[in-house]
Parts: sequence; structure tokens; C-alpha cells
Amino acid sequence: MSISAKNITKHYQSQKALDEVSFDIPKGQIVGFLGPNGAGKSTMMKILTGYISNYEGLAKINETDIKDNALSIQRQIGYLPEHNPLYLDMYVKEFLKFNVDIYKCSPKRINQVIELTNLGSESHKKINQLSKGYRQRVGLAAALVHDPEILILDEPTTGLDPNQLVEIRHLIKSIGQNKTTLLSTHIMQEVEAICNRVIIMNQGQLVADEMLEDLAQNQQQIIHVEFDYSVELEALERLNKVQKAKEIGLYEYELYFETSQDMRSYIFDFAHDSGLKIKTLNRKHQSLENLFREITIKT
Ligand code: ADP
Repeated sequence: MSISAKNITKHYQSQKALDEVSFDIPKGQIVGFLGPNGAGKSTMMKILTGYISNYEGLAKINETDIKDNALSIQRQIGYLPEHNPLYLDMYVKEFLKFNVDIYKCSPKRINQVIELTNLGSESHKKINQLSKGYRQRVGLAAALVHDPEILILDEPTTGLDPNQLVEIRHLIKSIGQNKTTLLSTHIMQEVEAICNRVIIMNQGQLVADEMLEDLAQNQQQIIHVEFDYSVELEALERLNKVQKAKEIGLYEYELYFETSQDMRSYIFDFAHDSGLKIKTLNRKHQSLENLFREITIKT
């Protein structure tokens, strides 16, 4: 089962929510769809699940165009929409039965998904009696009744407390092992905890697409330096092996190097030669956090 988006553009009236977005997700990956609010993540997920059909470009699930086949595509996808809409007055089992009926699958699936999502202890309750964490499990259980091979989860951990968060992440990771999963979030740590690939969106555009293991091996180092006075960016960019320099605060700069050699001594020499004092000097490696900040702060 694969997900494919090719040159997807979507307007809401004059607002461009997606701008020529393309990616392919092969079977078995758990992909984090990361980006600040308004980046276009939910819109893309609604397109991939067949709930939005007026867009430009080609979106396919397992090589089938979603536009003409929304109903059959929805049978292959487990979708947890943003804010997890549930019928709060229903009992857990009643709600799952409702979903089993929609998908016309075996009633045996009710107990199977209860077990899969560790809902057992709460399964006799009404949904409005459940904690937010357990409600999220009910949403996941409902998304899983028809045993879909593809999971599309829109901000599945929003609003959970730290313990619930860890439990749900763990659950998604274990369920996702045998599926193709796209999970949206604005939390970088979530991607690091669950995913093996990250796609970063910003202002409707895809701005990064990386395997997490590649990021871990990235040689790029970033030096964060704070001087006692301002420095011309051009002067910093002339330093040995600097790829780029960015001003990130008052007298504060980030310098990007593509080398594993510790470059801090060069900064010391530069400060000394320029009559500057260094107030802070930190070295860090390129990580998902840096990549995300680098991409989303500058715009
Ligand atoms: P995200 O999920 O990353 O927060 P969305 O896909 O919800 O982003 O939104 C992308 C952009 O599209 C935002 O600017 C948002 O305001 C706009 N948008 C989303 N849904 C609608 C809608 N139904 N009508 C008008 N504009 C919308």
C-alpha cells in the first residue's frame, strides 16, 4: 500500500493552502508530517482521504486516483481526523459497532480493536466518561475496525497530558509497524519518537523530506554565538568553511558548517581579531529540531 501526491495545489477562495506538493510514501513507512499551524497538513490529509476533491494535481492510494474512487479508497484507510470527532453519548462498544456496520466488517473486530488499543478497562463506559487519552484510543480503534493498511492520523496527540502522550505515541508506533502511516504534528519530538521519515511543510509548500537516520548522520554543525556588539553577516560568511550565517537575535548569530571538525576556535580568533567579546558560544549538530527551526523561522 502506498501513498502518492503529485503537484497538489489547493485554494480556499483566494487562500493558497497547498502549493505544488509532491511526495511518495512506500509501504511500511511511518512518516511525520510536520509543520506549524496553517502549513497545509490537514488539507493534504483531507485530500488523501477523499474528503476534499476540488484540488489540482494527482493524489493516489496504491496507484488508484483518489478523486474518482473516494469510497473505495476510504475502505482502505484508517483516518483519525483532527479533534477526533466522537459521539460522546455513545458507549465505547456501541460506537465501535457503529463503525463496524459502516465498513460492513465482522463484529469480532470490536473486541480485536479494543485489545489492540488497550481499551479493555474502559470499554464498558460511555465516551463522555473517558479521559482525553482514552478518547484518543477510541478514535484510533474506530479508525482500525476495517483493518486498513494505511493510517492517516491528524494531530493524534494534541491536548494529551505527558503520560497519555507517551502511551499514544507508543501505541501508534506499534500499530504502524505493519502499515503505511502518515501522521501530522507540530511537535518535532513526536516525529523523533514515532517516525522513520519526516516531511516538513511551511506555508503550503513542502520544504524538507528526510529519513531520520540520514539526519542523524548529517555532518552539518551549527555554532550559536553571541557577541557584545553587532557583526556584519558578510564578515561572518567570509570565515573559513562557513556555509551561511544568520542573525537570530540581538548580537546573536548562527553559523552553519559542513564539517565535523570543531570550528569554535576559529570564532574565538575572529572575535579577538575584530575586538569583539564572546558572550555565548555553543556548538550543535544538525538535528530535526534545527532543521525545523531553520526552515520555519526565516519566513
Ligand atoms: P494545518 O493543518 O497545517 O494547520 P490547514 O490545512 O488546516 O493547515 O490550513 C492551511 C491553510 O488553509 C490555512 O491558512 C488555513 O487558514 C486555510 N484553510 C484551511 N481550511 C480552510 C477552509 N475550510 N476555508 C478556508 N481556509 C481554510
